[in-house]
Order: sequence, then structure tokens, then C-alpha cells
Amino acid sequence: MTGHTLEDDQIELSDRPLLICDVDEVALEFVSPFMGFLNSRGHELRPVSFRLTGNIFALDDDAALDQAAVSVLLEEFYAEQDKWQRATESAAETLDALSRDADVVFLTAMPPRHRAIRRRVLDAAGMPFPMIASEKAKGPAARTLHGDRDLPVAFVDDIFRNLHSVRDHLPQALLVNLMAHTGFRALAPNPGEGVVVARDWPHLGEVVRHHFSAHRPAAG
Ligand SMILES: [Mg+2]
Repeated sequence: MTGHTLEDDQIELSDRPLLICDVDEVALEFVSPFMGFLNSRGHELRPVSFRLTGNIFALDDDAALDQAAVSVLLEEFYAEQDKWQRATESAAETLDALSRDADVVFLTAMPPRHRAIRRRVLDAAGMPFPMIASEKAKGPAARTLHGDRDLPVAFVDDIFRNLHSVRDHLPQALLVNLMAHTGFRALAPNPGEGVVVARDWPHLGEVVRHHFSAHRPAAG
């Protein structure tokens, strides 16, 4: 038992291009609703550098929260994500349009114990695409999902580590970085070689569609 959930999710792919899409801060807003959640708990996230730990402060004494405290708050946030998280602007429409010519699969780094609530949030947001919830590295998961198929594949994530993991394990994939929160996006460093930065979901749709049509396998 590896803890990997690919079999549990029973993802069935068609013979069409594949878009593997992250959820937090990509399909669903994360930073903005997490800020609202923190405020409700007497804390504040100040986007002064490109990280969470160190930038979350207690409002009563202005002390920065340590990693352990941030982890507890993240766990509480995910447990009640349906109260906070919404689709990123144009995400549902863009994925719906792309899904007419491609398979869309969510690959979320969420602990599998939160998968039912996440599923409900995605469905309610108009994004009913299959989902893999795993805390394992995204590169091997993407590789297992796509296999050796001679079909175009694209991967979208806000976290550079995940993009680089997929670059290592599925080198033919188009890598796209998207961050819903403009404040954090402005603080982000260069995403690294071979990663396309999408301004927003409509731009992401154009980039992915272009890649899929340019890499269509020869007929026959
Ligand atoms: Mg993410």
C-alpha cells in the first residue's frame, strides 16, 4: 500500500489530449480565501514575500506564526474549504471549453482525507472533472496518468516545485504556471526553464489550445 490514489480515483482517459490541472490557487482561489479565513481567526497574511510561513501574523501581538501554527491553520482551512473557496475567475468556463477537445484531470496535493469536501467544492463551482488527491510528488503521478501515450499533454500549477517535478518525469508536457492572486504573483521569482507563465485563465486557455493543436499526433 503506497498511499497513492490513482486506482481509487478510477480515471479513464480518452484518446484526446490531456490537461492535468492543479486546484489550489489555480482552479480554485486559495490565497484570497485563506486571507479571509485567517482574519476570522485573528490572524493576517501579509503578502510581503513569496511564502506563507513568516508572512502570517497574529493581530493581537503582531507576532509571526511559526510553521507548526501555520500547518494547524491550513488543516482547519481545508476542513472547511467549502465556506471559503471559490473558482478562480474564468476557470470553469475555460476548462469547460477545453474539455470539449481534451481530457481534464485535477491533480491536487490535498491530503486524501479532504477529498470529499474538495469534490463538492469543485462540483459546485462548475468543474466536475475527475480528481486525484495525493501528497506524493506530482511528476510521477502525472507520468503514471499519461503513460506512454502519443498524445499532447499539459500541466498547470502555481508551485514551481510541482512544475519542475513534471518536467523531470513527463518532459513532453507543456508546463504552465498560473497564480490566481495578483499580489503574490507579482512577488514570484522566475518559474524556471520551460515554464510558460499564464496571466489569467483566458490566456491559459489560448496557450494550452495552441500546444494541443501543434502537437496533435499524425493521423493513421
Ligand atoms: Mg496549487
